[in-house]
Amino acid sequence: MSRFDADFEEALGRAGAQNRRRVLRPLEPLDGGRVRLDGRELIDLSSNDYLGLSRHPALIERSREWAGRYGTGAGASRLVRGTFAAHAGVEAKLAALKGAEAALLFASGWQANAAVLPALFAAGDEPALVFADRLVHASFHHGCQAAGVRQLRFRHNDLDHLEQLLADHAGTPGRRFILTESVFSMDGDQADIARLVDIAERRNAFLYLDEAHATGVLGPRGMGLSGLAPGRVDLVMGTFSKGMGSFGAYVAGSRALIDYLVGACSGFIFTTAPPPPVLGAIDAALDLAPGMDAERAHLQRLALRLRGSLAEAGIDTLTSTTQIVPAVIGEETRTLEAARRLEAEGVLTVAIRPPTVPKGSSRLRLALSAAHSEADLDRIIAALRTALPARQPA
Ligand code: PMP
Repeated sequence: MSRFDADFEEALGRAGAQNRRRVLRPLEPLDGGRVRLDGRELIDLSSNDYLGLSRHPALIERSREWAGRYGTGAGASRLVRGTFAAHAGVEAKLAALKGAEAALLFASGWQANAAVLPALFAAGDEPALVFADRLVHASFHHGCQAAGVRQLRFRHNDLDHLEQLLADHAGTPGRRFILTESVFSMDGDQADIARLVDIAERRNAFLYLDEAHATGVLGPRGMGLSGLAPGRVDLVMGTFSKGMGSFGAYVAGSRALIDYLVGACSGFIFTTAPPPPVLGAIDAALDLAPGMDAERAHLQRLALRLRGSLAEAGIDTLTSTTQIVPAVIGEETRTLEAARRLEAEGVLTVAIRPPTVPKGSSRLRLALSAAHSEADLDRIIAALRTALPARQPA
C-alpha cells in the first residue's frame, strides 16, 4: 500500500472501463511452438520466436559455455569496462553477415531505436527533418520525442505519399531522415526496400530501417530485407529477440556511423553491456540462422495456407505477406472474446487493440513459427473455425 495508490487505481479503473486494462499471465514455454498456460498445453501463436531458436540445443549450449567462460554479467558499460572479445566477435560476425562495415550491440530493440535516433539527429549542424511511416514502432516515437523532433508521417507503406512529403519540403532546410520497418509487427506486411533506397538516394535522405521482424526470417540467408539492396540502407537496426531466439539488438552501418554512435548515444554509453550468456545464444544463432532456408520456406508455406484459409472465410488479413498474420475483427470486445474462444480451442493468440493499432482495427495477431507443423496448422484452422464470430467462420 502506498498513499499514492488511489491515483493508480483510478487509472486502472479507467483502462478497465475501456477494456484496455493489461495484465500479465505467467506461462511456461514448451518445445514445438507450444506453451503451458493454466495447466493446459496450447499451440502458441503469441510468440515472435519465428524459427523456434529459443529452445535450440546449440543456443542453449553456447549460452552455458559463454556464461562459464565470461561470467553471467558484463560488469559495466562497454566504454567503462564491459567490452569483451565476445562483444567484438559477435559484432564482427554480424557485420559480415549483413554486408556492413560495422555493427553495434544494444540491450534491446526498444532501447536501440529510442537511443540511436536522438544521437543521429544531433550529428551535423542542420536540424532534422523526419519522414516516418505512420505505423512505426512505439520506440521510434520515444526517440523522436527525446530529440524534440516532430515527425512528418507518411501513410503506411505509401511511398507515393513519402515522395509527396519530401517534394513538399524540398525547400525546407535540414538533414532528411526516412524512418521505416522492413516488416511491420502488427500488419505482417513488407516495405518496398528497392524503392525506398532509390527515393532516399535521390532526395539525399538518410534511410533508417528497422528489421526486427525480418531478422532470421526474410532476405538473403534470412539476414533481413536490407540484403536486397546491399550497402544502400544507411542504418539497419534489428533484434535478436524474435527470429534469432534470444535477446538484444543491433545497428549496422558504416564504420564512421558506428564509431560516432559509440560516443554519442546515451542508451549505449550509460548502460551495462549485454551479458555473456545472451551473447553466446546470439553467436550460435548467427551461425545457424543463415543456413535455415528450409525452415524459412516451411514457415512461409504455413503462413500462405493460414492467410488463404482466413480469406476464404472472409476475414481480412490486411496486406500480410509474412509469418505475422493479422485476423482483423474490428471491435475491441469481440476481438477479446475471439481470443478467449480460440484459447478454449487450444490456440494462444493475442488480441491487439488500440492504442497499439488504430481504432476499429482490433485483431488477433497470429504469429507462426517454423516449429509448427502442417498438422498444427490443421488444428489452428479448425480452432479458428469454431472460435471466430459466427458470421465470419474460418
Ligand atoms: N522494433 C519493432 C518493429 C518491434 O516490433 C519491436 C518489438 N516488438 C522492437 C523494435 C523492440 O524490440 P525489443 O523487443 O528487442 O525491445
